[in-house]
Amino acid sequence: MGKISKGQKCSVVGCDSPAIRSLPADAVIRVGLNVEGGRRAYLCREHYKEYKRRTKKERKLEKWKFMG
Ligand SMILES: [Zn+2]
Repeated sequence: MGKISKGQKCSVVGCDSPAIRSLPADAVIRVGLNVEGGRRAYLCREHYKEYKRRTKKERKLEKWKFMG
């Protein structure tokens, strides 16, 4: 997991950057990134950062929810 072939492009719609990471597409879609179809989503450095930022935010929101 996480290994990608050379020349793979970022799956985010409208993004043409080389991918550095592969993730399950549904995980990426869940955080609100618009990726092309398929079971895997390939993310460039910028979108991977964005993905990580959003998952962190999501976790924080969840905590708030639990706290009421
Ligand atoms: Zn990208």
